[in-house]
Amino acid sequence: MAKHYDLIAIGGGSGGLSAAERAASYGARCAVIETGRLGGVCVNVGCVPKKIMWYAAHLAHALDDAPSYGFKLDYFDFDWQKLKVARNAFIRQLNEHYLSYLCGAGVELIRGFARWVDARTLEVNSEYYSADHIVIATGSRPQMPELPGAEFGVTSDDFFELNNCPPRVAIVGSGYIAVELAGMFHTLGAEVTLLVRKDQVLRSFDAMLREQLMARLREDGITVLTQTQVRAVARRVSGSLSLHCDGQANVLNVDTLLWAIGRDPNTDALNLPAAGVVMNPNGSIPTDPFQNTNIPGIYAIGDVTEHFHLTPVAIAAGRRLADRLFGGQTDRRLLYENIPTVVFSHPPIGAVGLTEEEARRTYGGAVKIYQTQFRPLYHAFTTRPIQTAMKLVCVGPEEKIIGCHLIGDGADEMLQGFAVAIRMGATKRDFDDTVAIHPTSAEELVTMR
Ligand SMILES: Cc1cc2nc3c(=O)[nH]c(=O)nc-3n(C[C@H](O)[C@H](O)[C@H](O)COP(=O)(O)OP(=O)(O)OC[C@H]3O[C@@H](n4cnc5c(N)ncnc54)[C@H](O)[C@@H]3O)c2cc1C
Repeated sequence: MAKHYDLIAIGGGSGGLSAAERAASYGARCAVIETGRLGGVCVNVGCVPKKIMWYAAHLAHALDDAPSYGFKLDYFDFDWQKLKVARNAFIRQLNEHYLSYLCGAGVELIRGFARWVDARTLEVNSEYYSADHIVIATGSRPQMPELPGAEFGVTSDDFFELNNCPPRVAIVGSGYIAVELAGMFHTLGAEVTLLVRKDQVLRSFDAMLREQLMARLREDGITVLTQTQVRAVARRVSGSLSLHCDGQANVLNVDTLLWAIGRDPNTDALNLPAAGVVMNPNGSIPTDPFQNTNIPGIYAIGDVTEHFHLTPVAIAAGRRLADRLFGGQTDRRLLYENIPTVVFSHPPIGAVGLTEEEARRTYGGAVKIYQTQFRPLYHAFTTRPIQTAMKLVCVGPEEKIIGCHLIGDGADEMLQGFAVAIRMGATKRDFDDTVAIHPTSAEELVTMR
């Protein structure tokens, strides 16, 4: 006999935890099934440990800049292992926090791997559980290519297992994870080669951001090889790896190879056909705008779906779904528009809304672009001539702002407030009428001509 709930979330990551916690706040009887560590990718092998490593790299840059501000620093060294121990301890605290958060919310935690038995029933460790509403929030995992020797490479999950900074690293990929890890490895001491299959990194971002970042990566000393593909990997007697490539390199010798070529949705072992849930050819789960799958009472949220793969998106979709199912808010859903996103490169990137290319495709000649590039005050005093660049994409006679694209120090923190304004329909005039905060880089956004 199956134990019955109002709602079960499969996956104790950002999406599943949020859906169950919000549903429980309305009095629903809820459970979360989790096979790994609570918190999912974001907490354990994603946003949080990555941002800690990014802060370390950021500090390394600040130490480089310090002499320009009059500091005498004769010697500094970086202890990767020490940071790893502190980082892991912090993450264990977060895992415990999520456990008490679930208990506090009255959500039951079922430990184990869930498989479907039928549309209403799941099996976990030979026990059966059923629910009126089942939320698939099983996330995704790093993709590995199929080529000889691919297994000698590691993924972003393994990045967090490294005990020290490898001397020579090759990263294959062009998405945000590839460029973020390239920046961190490089700043913390590795010689980095980034292998990109096409011509540019961050292909879905505005051209200005792509070009600025490519230039920055190269000026920093990262070797970016475009139109280059790895065909085979071999381990040498010394333990290092030889990458056999097509394109701008034939053979590349490195100590660590990291694949950052995309992620696969965690759906293959769920036995979804038993529930009748349809999947896309790549294994992700299609949903309607309300997160409904093709089977009534079964929903999908977060990285297992096709939408923006970001923690706050999974959280927002989960909470809105619970508001709709148990909070009487029948039209509540996440609008997948104007979702702000940040790339923790060096310097960081922030973007919200349409790129210039997308806007021109949709609105043609009604688009007006405001753009600026400058050396921020901080770098007027450093030996690193790092530029900040900003673009506003506007449309129509009222110049409604439909896109905002930033690269430069502070872009990560700058974007959130501007994303609120853009979501509320701000026009260029609204930006112009806002008094600037001086001296900042953000003030350029309200003084652009
Ligand atoms: C390196 C890296 C950096 C990132 N940086 C950022 C960032 O800076 N900002 C940002 O917003 N996003 C970032 N992301 C993306 C973010 O981590 C994801 O969008 C987010 O974790 C998705 O949440 P989710 O709930 O959909 O899935 P997940 O967090 O992946 O959670 C899914 C959970 O389901 C469990 N599970 C899977 N199958 C089963 C099963 N059958 N039974 C039981 N449990 C199961 C898994 O163990 C996992 O814990 C990053 C991702 C990576 C990999």
